[in-house]
Amino acid sequence: MIPFNSILLGFYPTPLTMLTSLTRHLAGPEIYIKRDDLTGLAFGGNKTRKLEFLLGDAKSKNCDTIITAGAQQSNHCRQTAAASALLGMECHLVLGGEEPSDFNGNLLLDKLFGAHLHYCGNLRKGEKIPEIVEQLKSNGKTPYIIPYGGSNSIGTLGFVGAVEELKIQMKDKSLQFSHIIFASSSGGTHAGLMVGKALYNIDTEILGIGIDKDEIEGMTLEKFIVKLANTTARKLNLEMKFHKNDIYLNNNYLGEGYGIVGEAEKEAIDLLARSEGILLDPVYTAKAMAGLIDLIRKQQFDKKDKVLFWHTGGTPALFPCASKLV
Ligand SMILES: *Cc1c(COP(=O)(O)O)cnc(C)c1O
Repeated sequence: MIPFNSILLGFYPTPLTMLTSLTRHLAGPEIYIKRDDLTGLAFGGNKTRKLEFLLGDAKSKNCDTIITAGAQQSNHCRQTAAASALLGMECHLVLGGEEPSDFNGNLLLDKLFGAHLHYCGNLRKGEKIPEIVEQLKSNGKTPYIIPYGGSNSIGTLGFVGAVEELKIQMKDKSLQFSHIIFASSSGGTHAGLMVGKALYNIDTEILGIGIDKDEIEGMTLEKFIVKLANTTARKLNLEMKFHKNDIYLNNNYLGEGYGIVGEAEKEAIDLLARSEGILLDPVYTAKAMAGLIDLIRKQQFDKKDKVLFWHTGGTPALFPCASKLV
């Protein structure tokens, strides 16, 4: 248990199963999946875990309004809008792009949850949050700021806790994973898994697949994640320090860029759909799975390895992408 305010928003533990057909098809290590696409909050996703701590903090500070930012098809924004609705809080989303003529995927859901949408063109990482916060305050609101992707030391606690959940599942199923592989983008998932691995003492490599080549808060993502792992560890009063050699972030699968579906992403989506009946999302998990497939084809794993693919959600973004997928 993580000793900080939190509000239960999802259903845990999320399922952990073997991908039998995919394993057979790729003829490499055994592949398993952790289904955080099934956290249960508004089509699920990894942000549910972070939001439990972020909104727990917001409530304890008596805030009445939540503000956060992301790309127009942000899964983080969609889950934040749903959680805010559930808790009776006003939600403001600072989104990239311009207001579209029709609403689809996550953006449609943001509307259904009653979020207030602010379109900011190229600025999809919350650059305009301070300006909107000032307006909210002058209107008598008490806003709580959730940074891009929910990736600060509070949100990251959600993924520290996720490692404890995984450890119990591994024990129950007598499984030991050699690697955990997942999509890494705003850093909270990655930092939380690193801290959780050290805290709960699991002997598993944490392999992040980079999704977005842009810097975050003026740093490379790698640097940002190491810093975030350290601030999160300090928050938990843990005697541990992470350095740049402690992180593995593979940026070989950025493809044509953030949110662009290329051949590798499409192959991953088709393969998981047709071999396992599982949906990947076009922005994150398709890139991470394309990375895993390629690493297996390049024999980067031993046949005796057991690899866990952490499905981080995002499936509503399939719909606005339809024309690229079929
Ligand atoms: C946000 C997100 C990620 C990346 O998680 P971070 O903690 O931001 O690195 C991966 N997959 C999906 C579907 C996401 O929405």
